[in-house]
Amino acid sequence: MTADIIDGKAFAANLRAKVAAMVPAFREKAGRAPGLAVVLVGEDPASQVYVRNKHKTTVEAGMESFEHRLPADTTQDALTALVEQLNADPAVDGILVQLPLPKQIDESAVLATIDPDKDVDGFHVVNVGRLSTGMHGYVPCTPLGCVMLLKDRLGDLSGKDAVVIGRSNIVGKPMAQLLLAENCTVTVAHSRTAHLPEVVRRADIVVAAVGRPEMVKADWIKPGATVIDVGINRVPGAEPGKTKLVGDVDFAEAVEVAGAITPVPGGVGPMTIAVLLRNTLVAAHRLADVPYDE
Ligand code: NDP
Repeated sequence: MTADIIDGKAFAANLRAKVAAMVPAFREKAGRAPGLAVVLVGEDPASQVYVRNKHKTTVEAGMESFEHRLPADTTQDALTALVEQLNADPAVDGILVQLPLPKQIDESAVLATIDPDKDVDGFHVVNVGRLSTGMHGYVPCTPLGCVMLLKDRLGDLSGKDAVVIGRSNIVGKPMAQLLLAENCTVTVAHSRTAHLPEVVRRADIVVAAVGRPEMVKADWIKPGATVIDVGINRVPGAEPGKTKLVGDVDFAEAVEVAGAITPVPGGVGPMTIAVLLRNTLVAAHRLADVPYDE
C-alpha cells in the first residue's frame, strides 16, 4: 500500500485564505492593515525570489508590505539603524531580515536588535526562550508549518515517537521543541548520531531537515510512519542541463512504506510563507490590542 500524500500546497493556500479573511475585521478595529517589513541585504538570487514571493503573498492577503533592499556592502550600523526604525514604526507589525546576510554583518547581533514582539520569524533569543518554556511568542515559520500538517493528518500527537533529523536553529531545534510541546517523545538526530537508520526506524513521526538529497531511505522508515520532508535540494534532472528539486527523503522508495508523506516540491515548502502571514496577523492583533481568535 502506498502512503497518502500530504498536500502542503493546498493546506498553505487554505491558511493564506483564512488569514486574508481575517484582515478586514482587523482593519476595521485597528484602523489600519497589518504590516510586514522585509529587509534584504545584497543580491543573493534565492533570497531575491523569497522576498518577491513574500511581498506578493502579503499584498494578496490584504496586508501592507514594506520592502527594504540594501546594497551588499551595507554596514552593521546601517542595518541596525533600519531595524530600529522599523521597531519604532507603528505601521509595522512584523519584521523579517532575510538570511543569509553578507559576511561583514553579524547575523545574531542583527536578529537581537529586532523587537521580540515584531519578530515574526521567531529567531530572536527571547522567542527561542519563550518557545522552550511554553510561553506565548513567535515560532519559526517552517517548523510551525510542519506541526500544522502533522496535526491535520494525525490529530493529537501525544505519546508519538518523533525523530527530527537536523538540529539547526531555524528548523531542527524549534521543531523538536514544538513536538515536545505536543507531548511527543522526541529524539533529535544530527551528523554525529550513531546508527541513524535504526534511530529513525523507531519513529511514528520522521521530520527530515538535513539538506542532503534523498538521504532517508525506505528501510529507515517504520511502516505506516508519517514523514515530513523539509529538505529542498537542487539536483541534476533527467534531461542534460536541467535541474530538479528533491527532498532529504528518497520519496519514490519511502512512499511505499510510510503511512503519509510530504512531497518535494508541494509539501512543507509552501507552508513557510503562509505561516509567516499568520504570524504577522497574530503580531498585528497583539500590538493593536485586538483579540485574536484563530
Ligand atoms: P542546516 O545546514 O543548518 O542544518 C542541517 C542539519 O542536518 C545539521 O544539524 C546537521 O548536523 C544535520 N546533518 C547534516 N548531515 C547529516 C547526516 N549525514 N546525518 C544526519 N544529520 C546530518 O540546514 P537547515 O536546517 O537550515 O535546512 C535543512 C534543509 O531544510 C535544507 O535542505 C533546507 O534547504 C531546507 N529548508 C527548507 C525550508 C522550507 O521548506 N521553507 C526552510 C528552511 C530550510 P550537525 O548539526 O551535526 O552539523
